[in-house]
Formats: sequence, structure tokens, C-alpha cells
Amino acid sequence: MNNSLPPIIIIGAGMAGLACANWLHRAGQASLVLEASDGVGGRVRTDVTPEGFRLDRGFQILLTDYPEARRMFDYGALDLKTYRSGALIRLADGRETKLENPLKAPSRAFTTLTSPIGTLADKLLIPKLALQLQRQTPEQLLAQPAVTTLEFLRQYGWSEQIIDSFFRPFFGGVYLDRELSTASNFFEFVFQQFVKGDAAVPALGIQQLPEQLATRLPAGTVRLNTPAAAVLDGGRAVRLASGETLAAAAVVLATDGPAASQLLGSQATAGEAHAARHTTCTYFATAGRAPSHGRRLLHLNAAPGALVHNVAFPAEVSADYAPPGQKLISVSTHGEHGLSPEDLTTQLRTELAAWLGPVAETWRHLRTYNLTQALPVYAPGQPVQQPLRLADSLFRCGDWAAYPSLNAALGTGRQVAEMLLGK
Ligand SMILES: Cc1cc2nc3c(=O)[nH]c(=O)nc-3n(C[C@H](O)[C@H](O)[C@H](O)COP(=O)(O)OP(=O)(O)OC[C@H]3O[C@@H](n4cnc5c(N)ncnc54)[C@H](O)[C@@H]3O)c2cc1C
Repeated sequence: MNNSLPPIIIIGAGMAGLACANWLHRAGQASLVLEASDGVGGRVRTDVTPEGFRLDRGFQILLTDYPEARRMFDYGALDLKTYRSGALIRLADGRETKLENPLKAPSRAFTTLTSPIGTLADKLLIPKLALQLQRQTPEQLLAQPAVTTLEFLRQYGWSEQIIDSFFRPFFGGVYLDRELSTASNFFEFVFQQFVKGDAAVPALGIQQLPEQLATRLPAGTVRLNTPAAAVLDGGRAVRLASGETLAAAAVVLATDGPAASQLLGSQATAGEAHAARHTTCTYFATAGRAPSHGRRLLHLNAAPGALVHNVAFPAEVSADYAPPGQKLISVSTHGEHGLSPEDLTTQLRTELAAWLGPVAETWRHLRTYNLTQALPVYAPGQPVQQPLRLADSLFRCGDWAAYPSLNAALGTGRQVAEMLLGK
């Protein structure tokens, strides 16, 4: 590296910024990554409590077949632990039904089903779509014209019964969108990814993903606790919140959408929308018994109007998520509920006790994460990717520039690196 030249400055050490820095580094090109917070990962963070619980900031999984993740990560070093394919679903009438491998081995999963999850015709449509999607690449699926997921499911022939008892809780949980208003090209992509890959977490928590990328960069590349305040001269300089100004060969905005607009000021595209999905994730712990009938299975709630959307037991998937003798319970909601933290915890306990038994009332509350900007809204008609080059020396990457997924964050980071490298 020639130290007299200003560096490429990447603002944001989330998955997109780190991917961009990694691809540049692989090609021998140095960069400087400025991160406002105290750690790498952006929305992919894990807190370790003094007791030794690992709390991911929001329930989150890696789909192992994501093309960009396969390009970027050393899966062996991440020591990935997988959720069992399927879910345990609480139906609207309070009954529970277990779906084993509904997307990976659909015919087997649904033949055993005397379950009230849908009609026989509904069940047969699942392998039909799985087969159809397997003939296309992820890129082809994402490039398709879209309607809402709900319209797509209805047009494909699925009944309201299976939509409400399976698709709404399952994919509504992926998108944090129970209305299923998310674009259907993304549905087809995600459906294919569930068919082809596993839902996994690194043994030591989801933050191991960005940590792996950060540790590959030369020391000093990432500067934590360094918020940028403005991008100047179309990407030729960055002003830090501290007042210092850094010259740049180019600037890559790898922040979320609202932060990018703020950094650009008057250079921002007028009228850019930044609607986001909201979720909360509340952790409970117990040294006692926790419901174990769905080991390593995600528990989904199909009951309309319920606050609890899904429940997971992360330490059943990776023992490192809880100290010895303890169980960890992760409870997610989505949508705005307007409850205070205390009222939220009380209501969650009540719903959990009605679902999983009175033992839930005894679970100890550990922490609640309120994630107001969890995922960008991705609606029909939205381009699968916004322009990544904003000016000669100014670029952007991240899921806000594409669709709401780790795959998009990693992929746009790679593409910006390739533009900078002149590929
Ligand atoms: C609860 C939850 C569950 C999810 N589940 C999944 C899932 O199961 N599968 C999946 O594929 N995806 C999931 N996602 C989405 C996935 O986490 C995101 O798509 C991805 O992490 C986005 O990465 P990013 O780099 O684009 O943005 P971010 O992670 O938002 O990173 C942006 C970074 O920029 C920094 N920054 C902002 N402003 C400044 C500034 N002024 N100066 C310096 N730094 C700044 C931020 O601190 C942050 O570190 C989930 C997200 C959440 C929140």
C-alpha cells in the first residue's frame, strides 16, 4: 500500500462493509472501515452476559446455501450448528402440529400429515414449487417480476388454510411481515434457499460471522467508535463526528438507508423511502425444565393477533449459548405493539404460559432487544438492486440497496469492491 495516497473509506462495519473490505483486501487493495458503534457486525451482533449467556441481537439464522455466504465464509471455522428443518406450529385453535422437513423433503413431511395444516392439494404444491425453483439460479429467481407473496401463494393455488397455518408464520417470520406483502421474487429465493441449505448459527453466536471477516483484515483497518458525520466532495473526503476530516480515494456508504441519507445531506437522492420492519427479541432463562418436545425446532405461532411470533431454544442448537445447567429461550414479536418493556414481558409470559405451560411463568427475564430498523421493506416493483455507484468516487452497499438478507449485504459489498477494482 502506498501510504501517501488517501485510502478507500468504507463507512459501516456491518456485513456489507466488511465484505467490501475483504474483497478489496483479497485483491491487495487496502481500505479504512469507520464504524460508529463499539463492535463489528451492524445488525449481526451477539452480547455475552456476565453469566455466560450468548444473546444474539434478534433471532437470526444463516441459510448455508446463500451464494454470497458460500463465497465469503469458512464454514468449518464457524463451527455451524443447524436448526432441524421444519417447525412446530401452534395453530389458531391452540393445537400444535410438527412439520419435519416441509421444504427439504416435502413429500415425506406431508404424507405423514394427518395434520390440519392444509389440504392434500396444498401439500402436493410444495414439492411442485421446490422442483420448479431448483431449475433456476438464485439470481434468476430474484430477477423475476413480482407480486406480493400473498398474491403469489393464492395464484399458485394454495388454500387460505395453509397460508395462515404455515406460510404466514414461517415466511412472515423470515420477512418480519405477517401480511406477506413482501415481493414474491424474494419469497421464491428464500424458499429455494430453505430447500437447498440449512438454517444455521455459528456455535458461539451470530456475531462470529462478521468477526470472521474482520479478523481477516490487516490490523488497523477497522476503526470502532468512529462515527462519520458527512461525506464531502462526492466521495473525496469524510468528516467524522469528532470534527476531523479524512481525505479519501473513494467512499463506500455501507450503513443502513437512513444513515446513508443523513451522511449524504443534499447529495442524497430526493424522496428515497426508508420504510423498515420492526421486531423485538426477548430472552428468558431457566435452570428448570423447558419444553423439549421440539428440540432444535423453531416454534411458530399461527394464532392471529398473538404477540409472540416465534420461540427458539438456542442452547439446544449450540450448547455454548447458555452456561452449564441453564436453558435459554428466545421469543420474537414483530410489528408495532406500543407496549412498555415491562408490559411486553408480562404479556409474553402470559402467552407463553398458555402455549407452553405454566412453567413459562417461572422463566427469568434476561434482556429485551427492540429492533426498529430490523429489515428494509421490500415490496413488489422495487428493483432487486438500486444503483451502487452514486458518483465517480461514491458508492453504496448493504441490504438497503437491494433486498432484506445477509446475502444482499454480502453481495452488494462484493460488487462495490469489484467496481473499485475496475473489474
Ligand atoms: C432481528 C433480525 C433478524 C434477521 N434475520 C435474518 C436472517 O435470518 N437471515 C438473513 O439473511 N438476514 C437476516 N437479517 C438481516 C441481516 O441482518 C441484514 O440484512 C444485514 O446484517 C445487513 O447488513 P448491512 O451491512 O447492510 O447493514 P447493517 O448491519 O445495518 O450495518 C451498517 C453499519 O453501519 C454503521 N453505521 C451507521 N451509521 C454510521 C456512521 N455515521 N458512521 C459509521 N458507521 C455507521 C452501523 O453501526 C452498522 O454497523 C436479520 C436482521 C435482524 C435485525
